[in-house]
Order: sequence, then C-alpha cells, then structure tokens
Amino acid sequence: MKVEEKEIRIQNVVATAYFNQPLDIDAIAKAFPHVEYRPERFPGLPFRLKKPKTCTLLFNSGRMVCTGAKSEREARRAIMKVARELRAVGIIITGKPEIKIQNIVASGSLGGTIDLEELCERARVGGSLMYEPEQFPAAIYRMESPSVVFLIFSTGKIVCVGAKKEEDVYEAVENLRRRLEEIEVLHEEMPEMRKQGGLEAMAWELITVAQMLVTRLGDRLRCRRCGRKLEVGEEVWKHYSSRKRSNRTDYYCKGCYKKL
Ligand SMILES: [Zn+2]
Repeated sequence: MKVEEKEIRIQNVVATAYFNQPLDIDAIAKAFPHVEYRPERFPGLPFRLKKPKTCTLLFNSGRMVCTGAKSEREARRAIMKVARELRAVGIIITGKPEIKIQNIVASGSLGGTIDLEELCERARVGGSLMYEPEQFPAAIYRMESPSVVFLIFSTGKIVCVGAKKEEDVYEAVENLRRRLEEIEVLHEEMPEMRKQGGLEAMAWELITVAQMLVTRLGDRLRCRRCGRKLEVGEEVWKHYSSRKRSNRTDYYCKGCYKKL
C-alpha cells in the first residue's frame, strides 16, 4: 500500500543555511525594529516571515536556522526570502547560502489501531523499540533505514522525526506499516465497533479462517477459551477490543462463543 499524503503530514522542517560571511546582527536589528532581539538572553535574532510562515534565527557567524516550514521547498524559499529582505535594507550578502535540511517532523495515522503490548512481544522489527506505558503513552521506535524515530500510539497515530528528506518520511512510514502488518499488530478499525463506557471499544465478527491468517499467526491462531488450534475454512468468532492503551484481537471457536 502506498503511503498517501493525507495519511502523513509534514508539520515542521528545520533547515540550516550558512552564508559564507559574518552577518551584522546589530545592523539587522536596527533595520527591522519590530524584531525582538535580546542578545543578553539569546544570541540569535528571530526573523519571522508571514509567507511562508516561518521563523529564521540569524547568527553573527552567518548561520541561519529556519523552523516552521511545511516542506523542504518552503524552507529553502523562506531562507532565500530572508536573504532578499536583508539585502533590501542594505545588508550586504554575497553568494549563495549552503542550505541543509536538518530534521523533518511529520505526523499522521496508520489507519488502524495498534496493540502496543503485542508490538513489544512480537517486535522483530529491526532497530530498537521502547515502550514504557507508565512514563509515556507511545512506543518509541528507532528505525535504521531510513534513519528516523517514530512515536507510535495505540490509536494508530504516529509522529516521525529525524528525517532529512521528505521521501524518507514516506518510505519510513511505508516500512513501518508493512512491518506492523507482518507481525499482525495493526488492526483495521471495524465499522461495527461499539464504544462501551467511552473507554473500551469492542466488536465481534464471524469469519472463516483463511490460509493467510494461519500463515500469519501460525501457532498463535487458537481459540482464546479452549486453546484449540483453529483450522483453515473453519468459521470462528473474531473479537476485537480496544482499551485506552491497548488493543487486542482474539479468536473463539463457535462452541466456546456460545458459552461466553
Ligand atoms: Zn474453543
């Protein structure tokens, strides 16, 4: 499945620019009196643009750090615009800046819920995974390739940080989704799901065990109540429940379902 833009949105691009010359920050502060420059508190001068809506910190060294852009292009555009505005008031800037994208923060949804406990048990996802629900409600997953860090919430919401290229964000999300599907921890939300008391949602569905499910779950595909291994072609009840911090899917044979 292709990761679409609506599923993951870039929230912030941090870019640095280096002009191969020092910048006269005091002169810039004088030329733009509305700019809040407090060198005794912070050495950078925050230069805000309305369009693209960004804030670029300017330093004496000639370094700039631009935050708030929603794309790489926007970040580059913002930096070039800052340089133009500086030139327009007589600040001498020569040559082209060296612009580097340092970090892209994106957020979105995987379109299903995730059982974070299951994820930890089954995680052979490559890279490192950390989940300490008492400290933080999301699992933190460091992906090696592309090199990014994900926050994964049980609702399926994700935050991706550390990418240096937009395409890495999309590739990383696609990898993540594929791996979560492989280890069967990404659960599609079911339309007939009912909320109970606002905290717990659950759903029952009568399904026929498909070969794919057996292949995916192997020995784990057992009746939750009697423990019997469920066979291909057998009709079973699939039960999905979602609590505040965890979601799980269980299967029950028809006999056990009647006794529940
Ligand atoms: Zn059973």
